[in-house]
Amino acid sequence: MRKYVFVTGGVLSSVGKGIAAASIALILKSMGYSVTAIKIDPYVNVDSGTMNPYMHGEVFVTEDGAETDLDLGHYERFLDVNLTRDHNITTGQVYGTVIERERRGEYLGQCVQIIPHVTDEIKARIRGVAEREGADITIVEIGGTVGDIEGLPFLEAARQMRLEEGARNVVFVHVALVPILSVTGEQKTKPLQHSVNELRRIGIQPDIIIGRCDEPLNETSIYKIALFGNVPRERVFSSHSVDTIYRVPLMLEEQGMSRVLSELLALNGRRADLSEWSKLVKRFEEASREVTVGMVGKYVELTDSYVSIKEALVHAGIHHGVRVRLKWVEAEWLEGGEDRVKKYLDDVDGLIILPGFGARGAEGKIAAAKYARERGKPLLGICFGFQLAIVEFARNVVGLKGANSTEIDPKTPHPVIDLLPEQREIDRLGGTMRLGAYKIKLKQGTLANRLYGRDIIYERHRHRYEVNPRYWDVLQEHGLVFSGWDSSGRRIEFAELPFHPFYLLTQAHPEFKSRPNRPSPPFMGFLEAILKHSPRVG
Ligand code: GLN
Repeated sequence: MRKYVFVTGGVLSSVGKGIAAASIALILKSMGYSVTAIKIDPYVNVDSGTMNPYMHGEVFVTEDGAETDLDLGHYERFLDVNLTRDHNITTGQVYGTVIERERRGEYLGQCVQIIPHVTDEIKARIRGVAEREGADITIVEIGGTVGDIEGLPFLEAARQMRLEEGARNVVFVHVALVPILSVTGEQKTKPLQHSVNELRRIGIQPDIIIGRCDEPLNETSIYKIALFGNVPRERVFSSHSVDTIYRVPLMLEEQGMSRVLSELLALNGRRADLSEWSKLVKRFEEASREVTVGMVGKYVELTDSYVSIKEALVHAGIHHGVRVRLKWVEAEWLEGGEDRVKKYLDDVDGLIILPGFGARGAEGKIAAAKYARERGKPLLGICFGFQLAIVEFARNVVGLKGANSTEIDPKTPHPVIDLLPEQREIDRLGGTMRLGAYKIKLKQGTLANRLYGRDIIYERHRHRYEVNPRYWDVLQEHGLVFSGWDSSGRRIEFAELPFHPFYLLTQAHPEFKSRPNRPSPPFMGFLEAILKHSPRVG
């Protein structure tokens, strides 16, 4: 069995297509099918790795080291699977392959065109994933908004697939915004109607329409969407704003999603069993305590830049029965004296120094690390946060004046953080970092070892710099404990301070592997320490 669900978006981007796609995937999985998911990004970049988070949001790293779209993170968290690089298809990859093939002479004699050559490549990639995964049903989310020029070849490929696979094997789901006019409070379906028309113009009639609205869709809106969208009333779904994205599958199922999908795709007719999932959502909603975590970074205006970290905190919160309130702190605000640091961080229960790149805000992150170390506030430093906390320790505890990372100050007298040796020869920036899952050995008896409950773990990575081996001895002599190493023993992966309520730094990105039902150990430990030590938590 090979079936496909295409998810398109209308009116504007960031309308919740990714969550809708992940929710449908979960519903189908809970009906007993093997399900996988693909994200199509119609931009020309080969992957998201070279894009600024403000352009794109978080770069999600897979086990196999691909730098992908953040929706893959949602799929992994909802489906509880690990996806690979071929689950994120971009225009850059598709054209790259077609052009390469043309140069090899594989289209000899032909004029190479968008239809059929580019669309064939798109379909081959989608089918290839379904085949390799042995998936009964593959969800394919087409990024961007219907009407974008760059999305057209992908929509065309989807249209062709319906023809080739048969109507019972391909379903189109369209997710579009239904705005509410603040003056009248009225739900407006016209933009959604237009986006459906746009789809129909290119030969796609959606089977299911999901109206994304701040409030539940009212009967009038549902009636209009069904009529003008040309679908039966029971195939119009309301996806309204809720407290947690993890409620969305439950919300869609309450409106009959598994029944409708069963009809359309000729499935087994089983209802979705979301009982375990719904327990997690209840625990989230019923949490009585609240903690505040300071999130120190440089892309805090677009908090989607750190979506996996936000979700990892939600997961750990569910398991500790606490709501985690996030206080976003732009690292640059912390530059210019201790008073500023206190002003922004005195009211947080613990802080995370976030991953990142480049000099802007680096001194602010260093100041935050100093504050957390000296005040005994729980601190989790991730990747760049790990590196800058080591810089802070080198400067203020070891006494190495001017210590820095060579990423920030190439002429520093004490390069405590330096380029990975294998990075020295690299002259291209795309896809060349140390990426993906690597083995880490944890030192027995350390905090990291206690949290993970084992000696060998695998976490994902995305970095070019590391702790410079020349400084290991002096850092350790001053009390820093290295608690995790890579498999060669030549690279530091975890560091901690024993006489501190919680001071854990990691070169890895544990957030990428956190799941609602399996929170990431460092995040669990971080919240545990906050609950134990923060005077503000009742
Ligand atoms: N800029 C740092 C490096 O390249 C950290 C990267 C990160 O935080 N992901 O090593």
